Amino acid sequence: MSETTGQPEGNQALSDQLPEGGFPPPAELAAAANAGPDVHERAAADRVGFWEDAARRLDWAEPWEQALDWSNPPFAKWFVGGKLNVAVNCVDRHVDAGHGDQVAYHWVGEPGDTRTLTYAELKDEVCRTANALTELGVTAGDRVAIYLPMIPEAVISMLACARIGAVHMVVFGGFSPDALASRITDADAKVVITADGGYRRGAPSPLKPNVDEALTKTEGVRSVLVVKRTETDVEWTEGRDVWWHELVAGQSAEHEAQAFDAEHPLYIMYTSGTTAKPKGILHTSGGYLTQVSYTHWATFDLKPDTDVFWTAADVGWVTGHSYIVYGPLANRATSVMYEGTPETPHRGRWWEIVQQYGVTILYTAPTTIRTFMKWGDDVPAGFDLSSLRLLGSVGEPINPEAWLWYHKNIGGGRCPIVDTWWQTETGAHMITPLPGTTTLKPGSAQRPFPGIAASVVDEEGKPIEPGATGYLVLTEPWPSMLRTIWGDDERYVDTYWSRYGQGVYFAGDGAKLDEDGDIWLLGRVDDVMNVSGHRISTTEVESALVSHPTVAEAAVVGATDPTTGQGIVAFVILRGDAVDSGEDLVKALRQHVRKEIGPIASPRQIMVVAELPKTRSGKIMRRLLRDIAENRELGDVSTLTDSSVMDLISSKLPAAP
Ligand code: ATP
Ligand code: MG
Repeated sequence: MSETTGQPEGNQALSDQLPEGGFPPPAELAAAANAGPDVHERAAADRVGFWEDAARRLDWAEPWEQALDWSNPPFAKWFVGGKLNVAVNCVDRHVDAGHGDQVAYHWVGEPGDTRTLTYAELKDEVCRTANALTELGVTAGDRVAIYLPMIPEAVISMLACARIGAVHMVVFGGFSPDALASRITDADAKVVITADGGYRRGAPSPLKPNVDEALTKTEGVRSVLVVKRTETDVEWTEGRDVWWHELVAGQSAEHEAQAFDAEHPLYIMYTSGTTAKPKGILHTSGGYLTQVSYTHWATFDLKPDTDVFWTAADVGWVTGHSYIVYGPLANRATSVMYEGTPETPHRGRWWEIVQQYGVTILYTAPTTIRTFMKWGDDVPAGFDLSSLRLLGSVGEPINPEAWLWYHKNIGGGRCPIVDTWWQTETGAHMITPLPGTTTLKPGSAQRPFPGIAASVVDEEGKPIEPGATGYLVLTEPWPSMLRTIWGDDERYVDTYWSRYGQGVYFAGDGAKLDEDGDIWLLGRVDDVMNVSGHRISTTEVESALVSHPTVAEAAVVGATDPTTGQGIVAFVILRGDAVDSGEDLVKALRQHVRKEIGPIASPRQIMVVAELPKTRSGKIMRRLLRDIAENRELGDVSTLTDSSVMDLISSKLPAAP
């Protein structure tokens, strides 16, 4: 490892671009940072007390008697005896404090229509919808499926559920009827909220027909509430289907909210299914809202009066739940919400939005950043991005190359980047730099968030030495932790809490510690390859490939190999201006990986492809590529954005050797 950057030696081209010691926080930001230099120390001195302070940022109808009950691990209870209403904390209290006219969301539709929602307007909409759901017979504890495009009604529906204590279960608008049906069955939802359709890539894509089909495969749904978005014709089941504009608009904007127990269920969210069948992750109220709001405030240095915050993600992903909806609203942020894809109607759409709304904080995923890299520097250069002051990354390890591109081309070289590691299961940020205090190392998520106990351990569960590689674990419960897998306590215990004994959470991700003790995430343990007895991380090989000037994106898998155990198979997407010179290119890329990591990491096969299989949250589904590389039948594809991608890749593939 190099001393200054923690980069593996040999990555000269990259290290040359790094200032000695990394990127220090900008002085101005450091001077006024929400999370100051003592925050880690304070949290270390009294971890639970630190979270109690964070919980006091919320309004409680009744105070808690016990901050943490960990007497029956791994079933945690936070803020025992406390009562609050999540929606009131996100909306009403800001209106009551005189901020009703502040914009909660600048919403931008893909076709170019816009809608501004102030906190006062949001409150009225949420109350009307809460009354409408009540009229449909929904009561506290019932599950409501939400299958909507990225329109304000998605947020309104989530908050309306929270307001009446119903448990929402948001399903990505892009998922198939089968995926929707299996989630409705698993969660036993009584009501589905959907739309006629949503806009994607310039055209309406249907949603209601998918619900109709899903409901032939599952029982128990008695009402379908339908938002009119695309004005496309839909079939109608009398007695079951109701138009939003008919039922909700007629309701009173008055609704008296009841306070619920801190441990009252808030939502179920199915994981993205990158490694296995999706799991219904259950989050509850008080601890979840405490940690999402506190992390949103500290990690993004959110200043409610001046910032314009944009999480460019879908609400159907946990990132949308925590950092489009609950965190920003609890902190009285003004947010941007965008319905569509980054290239519609042109590749500068995001930068146009940043320019128009004066976005100050942008949070997105490495996969999108690599797509922008592929499209070229010219696109963002055509817009005024000077309002930005902070950038964030989430979803996978960010390749140092992509980090530097983001920093320079989007952040103008002046914006810190917070690389936030967390999971659906953790609910909120767990490992991340803090923008006012951390000297940044591109590619590393660096340190556990204050009040979070994390460690990197070996096979036996012993903490590893600096410089070594191991498994990421969380050694103490945290407020926004999942409480269980919906309906399956046993799978909850087995999946997360069994590998290293009681009270230790196994995250499923590999990690490396550098000499400074900073954490480098290496991707999922399931994705670590074993080549001739060497453990090689897919992330490292991918980053090496992406650091080659011709490569925009790479996915690497280990395929069974008769001689080496596993052989490395790489799928690469080329940058916009690169030419595919066939064998020469493959040779050059192999050579490049040898130089960057070593001969052992040189891929057995490299395939140039146009697309990679991804989940809607932009994660590469390596298990499907592994199925392809090993000539197997494909596993569960229900969470794939576009299943035709797999046919495209299969057709390019020579028979496995
Ligand atoms: P499944 O658990 O169903 O296989 P998933 O793990 O992809 O799906 P998510 O909860 O959305 O579902 O993703 C969490 C995972 O994303 C983490 O475990 C980690 O592998 C990866 N991840 C998220 N943020 C980062 C980050 N900043 N750096 C590295 N990896 C990250
Ligand atoms: Mg996971």
